[in-house]
Amino acid sequence: MRSEQLYSIGLIAQIVDGKIIGNADYEIQSISIDSRSLYLPEETVFFAIVGDRHDGHKYISDLYQKGVRAFVISKDDISLKQYTDASFVCVEDTLKALQTLTARHREHFNFPVIGITGSNGKTIVKEWLNQVLQNTYRVVRSPKSYNSQVGVPLSVWNLNTNANLGIFEAGISQPEEMQQLADIIQPSIGVFTHLGEAHRENFENKEHLLSEKLKLFASCKKVVYCSDDALVVNSFVVNLEPNQEQYTWARYKHAFCRILKEKRIGNRTHITIQIGKNTSEFVIPFTDRASVDNAITTYVTALVLGIDALDLKQEMLKLEPVAMRLEIKEGFGNCTLINDYYNSDLGSLEIAIDLMNRQQIDKKKCIILSDIYQSGYTDKRLYRAVAKLAAKQKIDRIIGIGERISMQADLFDDNAVFYQDTDLFLSQFNRSKFHDEVILIKGARDFHFERISKALQFKAHRTVLEVDLNAMVHNLNYFRSLLKPQTKLTVMVKAFSYGSGSVEIANLLQYHRVDYLAVAIADEGVELRNAGINIPIIVMNPEPHSFETMIEYNLEPEIYNLKILHEFQQALRKNVAKNYPIHIKLDTGMHRMGFMQSELDDLIAQIRSNDHFYIRSIFSHLAGADEEQHDDYTRHQIQLFKQWSDTIRQHFSYAIDRHVLNSAGIERFADAQFEMVRLGIGLYGVSAVHQDKLMNVSTLKTTISQIKTVSKENTIGYGRKGVLEKDTRIGVIPIGYADGFSRKLSNGHGKVLVNGKLCPVVGNVCMDMSMINLTDVEAKEGDTVTIFGNDYPVSQMAEQLDTIPYEILTTVSRRVKRIYLQE
Ligand SMILES: *Cc1c(COP(=O)(O)O)cnc(C)c1O
Repeated sequence: MRSEQLYSIGLIAQIVDGKIIGNADYEIQSISIDSRSLYLPEETVFFAIVGDRHDGHKYISDLYQKGVRAFVISKDDISLKQYTDASFVCVEDTLKALQTLTARHREHFNFPVIGITGSNGKTIVKEWLNQVLQNTYRVVRSPKSYNSQVGVPLSVWNLNTNANLGIFEAGISQPEEMQQLADIIQPSIGVFTHLGEAHRENFENKEHLLSEKLKLFASCKKVVYCSDDALVVNSFVVNLEPNQEQYTWARYKHAFCRILKEKRIGNRTHITIQIGKNTSEFVIPFTDRASVDNAITTYVTALVLGIDALDLKQEMLKLEPVAMRLEIKEGFGNCTLINDYYNSDLGSLEIAIDLMNRQQIDKKKCIILSDIYQSGYTDKRLYRAVAKLAAKQKIDRIIGIGERISMQADLFDDNAVFYQDTDLFLSQFNRSKFHDEVILIKGARDFHFERISKALQFKAHRTVLEVDLNAMVHNLNYFRSLLKPQTKLTVMVKAFSYGSGSVEIANLLQYHRVDYLAVAIADEGVELRNAGINIPIIVMNPEPHSFETMIEYNLEPEIYNLKILHEFQQALRKNVAKNYPIHIKLDTGMHRMGFMQSELDDLIAQIRSNDHFYIRSIFSHLAGADEEQHDDYTRHQIQLFKQWSDTIRQHFSYAIDRHVLNSAGIERFADAQFEMVRLGIGLYGVSAVHQDKLMNVSTLKTTISQIKTVSKENTIGYGRKGVLEKDTRIGVIPIGYADGFSRKLSNGHGKVLVNGKLCPVVGNVCMDMSMINLTDVEAKEGDTVTIFGNDYPVSQMAEQLDTIPYEILTTVSRRVKRIYLQE
């Protein structure tokens, strides 16, 4: 994140009470805590944050290579001499230092700052406030939902003298956290959105949670909240001073803004309110309860900021959904599209470019960018910063669309082209000009860049598998939370990552620093290497004909018997390779592949007598880790594994990692982590143990192509198997067994979800289509049909088919397009 002001290292050291090593006059403008997202390194100070399983100090040398010359550190055991021209500020606690510096930065600004907290709706209210206020104010706000102990300081750092309003959200999961955030944001106006159950477990009770949250408001002159809940009102009374003005809204009692009536008409809600003696109405284009609540909170806050009621009414009608996620799609000409056309500001551009950099590393990079609104900078400075960012991030070309960006064309390099508006761009659009690129499509809403995305994307096959990458990261973090900090993690990405994709998933996992990936066959590994994946990859099922390829691509084999060991040794000898890592598989009870106890002596002798390879790890696989009935057997397997691996390790002087746990094992036998574990199905959202801790990752969806009413004497589909009991509304959906929609789902065995209702399959599933019974549900052509996903878990579909989720996920065919969603 980048501030307007320059800070010298000397000043920073003084503010955070640190000791300087190196040049105190070095000046910076940006701060970073993540070595992976970095731009303008020469003007950045890096804070080496230390967490449970993360230590920023590890990246200092990498960052130095990239050009960073200023660091805030807390460890004195690193050798700083090698970084001759760098400046270091040594402190006790780097996170504290970050918070202290940004709190001091905040103090330079006297304009109103809104602090938002609550269990839900923080980001929506913040974005909606920005939408309704941006004609009146120049707003700096938290990017996305940056509301944590590090998110808040990074957000507040963006405050600058060109702005005249700040909007920041604050979220906590532990007692004592809010005080830090309050010290940084120092809000003058407080907004409380909603009291819910999130993170309740870490607090004694709801009162405790509330009183912690309200610490954000200690400095506020005005606060806004819903006063219907007596508990909330009580807390405000107890925790606030009498002179803090309270702007409440309520449905059921007297309040500053009383809600008299809410009426749904079509997809809008008409809200009648009373303020003082005046009754008025405003309309929003939403109908669900959460949106109505958030809209009212937004409305009252905007009034508090002095927005004229009539203007506000117009803005409320225009409220737009807050897209929390970017979409990654496949485009024509081997392009990857990243759609992010709901907002445009420097902060979110930075984040989007960062995401772009995590995609296929071997493709060229293109940005289609609209005018940027409300940055607080003059146009010249703003687009100079954009041009600089693009150059630093090695963006190959920029297509600027809009009058303002076009005026600054001379700030960009020769590859940049400009258009006055979206229509002009589309009228000259030629698809063949786009190939082998990652294209970030980023613009403010009113540029309607979705039209550009449509032009670049494959005619969407109506059946798609949506893969929620944030859910995947959530699941990854859940499993990590069960591990000791030092335990290494292999993630299984075999079989197209259980159906969810290969390169996209591997990119995500590499970014999130898993230690190993494991694929089934060498070709899967080659695909990943070709896409720039450089972390170690194990091939579980190596075949001798692919050994040369594996060596060429640096893929590490599972060795499961002496024959394969010997053959691999031959291949290494031919390639004059030495010291190649291999992974020894032991058969402790699965009785699939692996060495038996009787073979261990030979194995040890073989490996000791050569210098072609060394054992990087020893592992085994559990046969029934997910089922309690097999727990004795599982413990026996673990016991054997320990014994046998000890026997092997005794013969080698180097360290050898051991691993035996799969997903269910991690959840149920956490004490058998050894040095590493292998995560599979859990990452993809399925657990035999704690399904409630995981988020759904994959959603298979299609749309209704046609609806017809068929009278009862007729039959539906092939073999006339779809016999009707009465006149039936039949929907045709474009998914069949060739897509992975099993023919066993025919004739009522399978059900799909349409507008909240389960509809049975009628007749036989065809190759590319199926028919469903829509008699009991309101539906029209074009409506979405969920085959499995959030509201209809894949495990239920697996039950219908008498199989396991693994099979359903991995048989969604490759012709079904994968769409990746990411915040
Ligand atoms: C597939 C696989 C795993 C992962 O199993 P899950 O049940 O999906 O967690 C782990 N180890 C080996 C050897 C595997 O083949």
